[in-house]
Amino acid sequence: MPGSLSDLVADLALANRILAHEGVLDAFGHVSVRHPADPSRFLLARSRAPLLVEPNDILEFTLDSEPTRPAKVALYAERVIHGAVYQVRSDVIAVCHHHAPSVLPFCVAGKPIVPVFHLGAAIGEAIAFWDQHDEFGDTNLLVTKPEEGRSLARALGRHAVVLMKRHGATVIGGGLRELVSRAIFLCQNADYQMRAITLGGAPPLHPGEIKRAGAVNLMPIVVERTWEYWSMRLKAAGALPPRARRMRKRK
Ligand code: MN
Repeated sequence: MPGSLSDLVADLALANRILAHEGVLDAFGHVSVRHPADPSRFLLARSRAPLLVEPNDILEFTLDSEPTRPAKVALYAERVIHGAVYQVRSDVIAVCHHHAPSVLPFCVAGKPIVPVFHLGAAIGEAIAFWDQHDEFGDTNLLVTKPEEGRSLARALGRHAVVLMKRHGATVIGGGLRELVSRAIFLCQNADYQMRAITLGGAPPLHPGEIKRAGAVNLMPIVVERTWEYWSMRLKAAGALPPRARRMRKRK
């Protein structure tokens, strides 16, 4: 576990880049973490492509998804997703919203993603589905209003994942590293499920298998091993985030 706020901020910048490097996030999507000392706040980057996020981009927000200090930088339009989930799920420590190519076909078709291999058990036995049109009619499909965020959080319920019709997915975690592994395994699972369907079928794991394999996925030794592996892949690509600057350079 990170020992201080600056360690957590560094981890959040790293999580942004890992999720981008592994194909979960692209120019869009975002990842946040609840403030370790104040559960009524969370940390999220300013509006920037996740692969470029660095510690100095990380800002603090209230659960209304407003910055705790006036921000001179652009903010993510869909940041209400994060605050809305933290408000209703005290067990949630980290949130990721994304539009990964592997999950989008399921979001378009309205078909469930089910765990089809052992690591896919990280998503749980069932995931939720939300269609913004059901409650809000014709929108631009961005989740920008507080009531849209609350509706999405209601649909998420006690699940770990909610698919968003024709849009993407929102994934939660009991920790930042747990969230990162779940988000990546969700994408791998969706990819395998789709390919298995073309071979004739993609039956889900048995409920008992999902419970047991899911528990293995949450073991610290597994979570730390995947975090180190994805960090090393990022390092090999020369894309690790810089360290936080204490003082901004004069221009
Ligand atoms: Mn989105």
